[in-house]
Amino acid sequence: MIPFEKAYDIVISSGFRTGNEVISYNDSLNRILAVDVVSDMNMPPFDKSTVDGFACRKVDLESDLVIIETIPAGKWPDKTVGIRQCSRIMTGAAIPSGADCVIMVEDAEILHSEKVRFKGNFIRENIAIKGEDVQKGDIVLKAGKQIRPQEIAVIASVGHVSVTVSKMPEVAIISSGSELVDPSQIPGLSQIRNSNASQLMAQLKTAGATGKDYGIAKDDEDETLSLVSRAITENDIVIITGGVSMGDFDFVPSVLEKAGVKIIFTRVAVQPGKPTTFGLHSKAIVFGLPGNPVSAFIQFELLIRPLIAKMMGHDWQPVIWNLPMNEKFTRRSVERMMIIPVIVNNKGCVSPVDYHGSAHISAIPGAHGIIAIPVGKKVLEEGEIVSVRQI
Ligand code: AMP
Ligand code: MG
Repeated sequence: MIPFEKAYDIVISSGFRTGNEVISYNDSLNRILAVDVVSDMNMPPFDKSTVDGFACRKVDLESDLVIIETIPAGKWPDKTVGIRQCSRIMTGAAIPSGADCVIMVEDAEILHSEKVRFKGNFIRENIAIKGEDVQKGDIVLKAGKQIRPQEIAVIASVGHVSVTVSKMPEVAIISSGSELVDPSQIPGLSQIRNSNASQLMAQLKTAGATGKDYGIAKDDEDETLSLVSRAITENDIVIITGGVSMGDFDFVPSVLEKAGVKIIFTRVAVQPGKPTTFGLHSKAIVFGLPGNPVSAFIQFELLIRPLIAKMMGHDWQPVIWNLPMNEKFTRRSVERMMIIPVIVNNKGCVSPVDYHGSAHISAIPGAHGIIAIPVGKKVLEEGEIVSVRQI
């Protein structure tokens, strides 16, 4: 059994950098930017009104103002605002020359169709200055960022319709276990639905990668070997779940060796996830994850998500909240680092979720995050600050 930190270092150092590709920004959700995005324009591109109102000169605000023009958004002003004049203007429209403020409609008393008077108490300019948000040539997004909807908006605003992103590593998912049936099936006696494959496929997607589901391998050495061998030749990473414990049919590590995988470790001091297995083949990086869905979920988060981030040059960091424990927590044995799913209550205090162990998959959706209790530490005191990693 090796310490988790050692397993982590081994896994991370096995990753190579994927190449880049150019895709449409509309297909770029969750992908990792490989090149900085630079603005091709000032934003705003002109001095613009932030309100609906009347563009005029501050010095004239004591006087009645003559309306000389109406400027909707999208139309360039024709007239210069002169002494005791104003232009009716809409939010987002360009400020006419001569004006140095916009009085809001709410602060304007319309005297008749051509005249208006300021009735507000204080003067605000209500003008967004050209280039105040972004200057032409500014880097608006840095390489390494994962693209979320808000990044897509920035990309769209600077017209960067083709984006250079990191290629995704090719990842195979194999589910090992004779008891497994596809989720669309009604399990027979002694069968269960395969929840790991779709969970891992979804975790890969949120990591900005994609998986290929190779289906279920029965607890049969030959069948498992042929599926594993094919997956290794076709992918950069192969993840097989199940069959790594100590049972009579847990022969995944020996199958991996027969497939030419050099096994680097088969036991990690982490709970859940002790039988996590890792090996290297000239063609692929191979993980054998425990079959229990919570263990598989957590081992993906701890080891595979950071590996994939590194391979794509993703500047990924887990979101961490340092918060106090709501109650005391004691564990029985201290030989392994323990990962516990937790909830954060509305006072910002942390409690373990009601969780029966690594098969209790329905406990996980209620968790806001996970905490790690290091090797050797038995008790978390009430009020003790813990680092909650968001999941
Ligand atoms: P194993 O690691 O093969 O000993 O499996 C440990 C536990 O996880 C057993 O109860 C299995 O039935 C269950 N299990 C294994 N693979 C999956 C899977 N793909 N989806 C859901 N449960 C699984
Ligand atoms: Mg099994």
